[in-house]
Amino acid sequence: MRAAVLFAPNEKLKVVEVGLEKPGPGEVMVRLAATGICASDWHTLTGAIPSPTPSVLGHEGAGVVESVGESVRSVAPGDHVVLSWIPSCGHCRYCESGRPNLCSVAAPALLAGTLVSGARRLSYRGEPLYHYSYLSTFAEAVVVDEACCVPIRKDVALSVAALVGCAVTTGYGAVVNRAQAEPGSTVLVFGSGGVGLSAVMAARVSGARYVVAVDPVAFKRELALEVGATHVADPVAEDVAALVAGLTEGDGADVAIESAGRSELVAEAFRLTRRGGTIVCVGIPAADATVSLPGPALVRHEKIVTGSLYGSCRARQDMPRILDLYAEGRLPLDRLVTRTYGLEEINEAFDDMVAGRLARGVIAFA
Ligand SMILES: [Zn+2]
Ligand SMILES: [Zn+2]
Repeated sequence: MRAAVLFAPNEKLKVVEVGLEKPGPGEVMVRLAATGICASDWHTLTGAIPSPTPSVLGHEGAGVVESVGESVRSVAPGDHVVLSWIPSCGHCRYCESGRPNLCSVAAPALLAGTLVSGARRLSYRGEPLYHYSYLSTFAEAVVVDEACCVPIRKDVALSVAALVGCAVTTGYGAVVNRAQAEPGSTVLVFGSGGVGLSAVMAARVSGARYVVAVDPVAFKRELALEVGATHVADPVAEDVAALVAGLTEGDGADVAIESAGRSELVAEAFRLTRRGGTIVCVGIPAADATVSLPGPALVRHEKIVTGSLYGSCRARQDMPRILDLYAEGRLPLDRLVTRTYGLEEINEAFDDMVAGRLARGVIAFA
């Protein structure tokens, strides 16, 4: 099968024929329909996030189960699945307390480059390749842990379902699971890429009164308005603080989501949030980034500043639910896809992403 291989950091991806072993015990082979490209892949590609090479990147995908290994019970050949990049163990303190995204088995080894067992099923010219985020979706097929497979309804397009594997769940969950935005609230979202736009949609479906999307790119602001933002602002040319103050009688937003991965925006989000409000950090900043907040206000205003990994999701419950909302027309997830590419065009897709030309780019497998 064909896959886009990263042979060394900061090189272009090369589309080559690779080997894929049959699934071992507890593993599943999935033929992919589509994979989204994400900023996390880019940071790995450039070496900013260290991950072993040669490898097959990609962690946002959906497809059809082709075959299953011994002891696999939750999926069968023919099932449609979204791939989750956190194969939660189900038994650790985090899994058992309803926070499987923080699984103490899967989360720490995310970038080790293997499946949970330590196995590698990918190879190039007989030499093993590393996996990425337990998935490696820049390939026509994957072998993954059973816990990565989230069965979904068959009547939604797999190209849309693929986005639920990362961007959508991350943005939606930040608003619904982590901030628990209430009807009538004001939600401020920094960044209108795939994650930020998903947060905008989630805020609207949660009954927010005002949803303010902030992004310097004009077409992303327009898209934000089309998918549910009530107001948009260009942070370079406009006064975001005045806009939020005007909407909230000077109080500030109830919830702020930082999806751009810029740590200086966390302080900005803190400043524009009301007393007792919630600031959720979703975008991952540079490895050495620190966040600076005003000490007295941190105490006096009782604001909650929190991160959210993978939308704080319980994948097997949240992903099918998100797709139900899409099928009902309440989350216009298909609007996230700016352009679809063939696997051979993957480097062009990354160029477009870095240049700010995409909400989300998707690789479709023929
Ligand atoms: Zn991602
Ligand atoms: Zn666990």
